[in-house]
Amino acid sequence: MFFPNHKKSYTVYTAGAGVLKQIAKPVAVVSDEIRTIAGEMFAAMRVFNGIGLAAPQYGHSLRMVVFDVPADSNTGTSGENALLPRMPLVVINPEIVAYSTEKNTREEGCLSVPEIYAPVERPVCVVFRAQTLDGEFIEAECGGLLGRCIQHELDHLDGKLFTDRLKPEVARAVRGDLERLKKIGQSSNYRRKSKR
Ligand code: ZN
Repeated sequence: MFFPNHKKSYTVYTAGAGVLKQIAKPVAVVSDEIRTIAGEMFAAMRVFNGIGLAAPQYGHSLRMVVFDVPADSNTGTSGENALLPRMPLVVINPEIVAYSTEKNTREEGCLSVPEIYAPVERPVCVVFRAQTLDGEFIEAECGGLLGRCIQHELDHLDGKLFTDRLKPEVARAVRGDLERLKKIGQSSNYRRKSKR
């Protein structure tokens, strides 16, 4: 994988931006432009220290996600065993085809929701389908941090943020911070630039 790191700074869109509320379009053809966007998304994820970034967060309403979930988060599901050694990984047109009935609650954060962290309940395990940039078809049953990260990133493709999934009492607790973030975002067109 080629990682261009030639930009002076990278922009990630923050809560309130229109692109984060749209249903993203499928990637029809893996063109050079798509590869370039994927490479830039990797670089942006690195400079912002993320473990996942969805194309809408980078300003493109496309069904594409990059992941860089740490290998030491492995809880032993077959999908984590298969995919964690392949990080960083870009996937196109990902979907979740099954969810475990078992759920757990973990604190989440998001590069598009800086400095706000809150517990979110989600299924522990998902069956994930996607394609790589080379057209390889992936189907993987993923739990652990990867399973959670997949659910969080795929929500971005459907116009959802983790803050849309909070329990009412948690939502109440972060409402002020979230409103402040959106207000600050308004003055910068919801663009957050990396300092480099
Ligand atoms: Zn996010």
